Amino acid sequence: MAEDFEEKSRKTEESPEKKDNGYENFCFLCKRPESECTGMVELPNNIHVCNDCMQKSFNMMNTQFQNGGLNLGDLFSNMPNVSMIDLSGFGSPEGMPQKIKKKKEVEKTEPAFDFRKVPAPHRIKASLDEHVIGQEYAKKIMSVAVYNHYKRVASDKKDGVEIEKSNMLMIGPTGCGKTYLVKTLAKLLDVPLAIADATSLTEAGYIGDDIESVVSKLLAAADNDVEKAEHGIIFIDEIDKIAKKKNTNQRDVSGEAVQQGMLKLLEGSEIEVPVGASSKNAMVPMAVVDTSNILFICGGAFPDLENIIKERLNKQASIGFYADLKDKYDNDPHLLEKVTVEDLRKFGMIPEFLGRLPVVFALDGLTEDMLVRILKEPKNAILKQYQKLLAMDEVKLEFDDGALRAIAAKAMEKDTGARALRAILEKYMLDIMYEIPKDDNIGKVVITGEYIEGRGGPRIFMRGQEGYLPGSM
Ligand code: ADP
Repeated sequence: MAEDFEEKSRKTEESPEKKDNGYENFCFLCKRPESECTGMVELPNNIHVCNDCMQKSFNMMNTQFQNGGLNLGDLFSNMPNVSMIDLSGFGSPEGMPQKIKKKKEVEKTEPAFDFRKVPAPHRIKASLDEHVIGQEYAKKIMSVAVYNHYKRVASDKKDGVEIEKSNMLMIGPTGCGKTYLVKTLAKLLDVPLAIADATSLTEAGYIGDDIESVVSKLLAAADNDVEKAEHGIIFIDEIDKIAKKKNTNQRDVSGEAVQQGMLKLLEGSEIEVPVGASSKNAMVPMAVVDTSNILFICGGAFPDLENIIKERLNKQASIGFYADLKDKYDNDPHLLEKVTVEDLRKFGMIPEFLGRLPVVFALDGLTEDMLVRILKEPKNAILKQYQKLLAMDEVKLEFDDGALRAIAAKAMEKDTGARALRAILEKYMLDIMYEIPKDDNIGKVVITGEYIEGRGGPRIFMRGQEGYLPGSM
């Protein structure tokens, strides 16, 4: 029996699998797991003590000896080859003390942000023109606001003149290019961009992302480079969803409270955010990000805002000499452009919040003509993408005018702006992409209006053939 026990204990001490049994060892004294400690010392009977506790015990012994008049250090120093052990080195390679990362001396030869690299407003707009169709006013106002923003970043404040932030609020129906404009802008300026959805934000402590999580998203987009993040752009979509709830006597944790919570972020403050994680906890290192040079752009569709504007305009129009027809503004496509801060306040945005978004502008709803242009004109137009795909099969793809009109008309019905275009095209291109590679002789396909409207097929041309064969698909 005794032999058995001895045999067993020897096995547990010696067997290599004991060292890596898939479970973490815990410190016998502080109860922390292995992964939280700098290293562990294994004592007999499968007891583990972390280096910190071990060191503490030695330090305690040392002071006790000293207090009792006996200095252990002196005692050991008189003994050859014996000295106090520094356990902080345990667990690291070659018994070396744990490496402490030296703080890099940042050579400030270059300014953190080079304003000279920011193109002039007309150049910014020209680049936006290559990608975004229409929205002339929005592109112009954004180009100037961004240019001024980075001027502000580069300016020194010694003369007492501090340029105000040009945070923006864009109003426009869904799918009209709000996100696309911001994405294009960030790419053009080569700054990190975080896109957040206001609907997921709640007051800290409630279910949902807390407001500061948008900054940690930006930090992640900047590869955890704080300085880069501090010159980035944060786009908060669906901002109309955090309007103050009307007629509620509950705490409005995802509406007004979020607006309140965003105030200090928009204005500029130092926010402590977790690095490489979305939530704060003891295990995640934190970084401090100053938001005063981060450009905030908020966007939303603001349904019903048109009615508020109309109501105000009608009220003005019905007074005195300028009395006008009541339905004058009913079909005004540029109604949103007439938005004022007062209208937005009525919608449910709080004045403090609006005060921190000084650049307010509206985007146009997309018309059928614009949708046709969106199909073919942008640098990365959807049609160009399909043409590229088929060109790899050495097949030319064309769309006649009727097809473009029919696709745009179908997209208009969906009321989701340009977003509908891809879904519609995808449906019609499926058969083409499936059938064409079957036949090596096909050299060209023309998508016709009849095909989109379900009244015919696409026109198929054989290689080297002048005429065409009526499509069989
Ligand atoms: P939202 O206004 O809802 O943010 P998006 O910007 O996400 O809409 O638009 C969805 C997609 O539609 C974009 O990725 C882009 O491809 C296309 N798009 C929308 N508006 C335009 C536009 N004015 N010019 C070119 N493409 C556009």
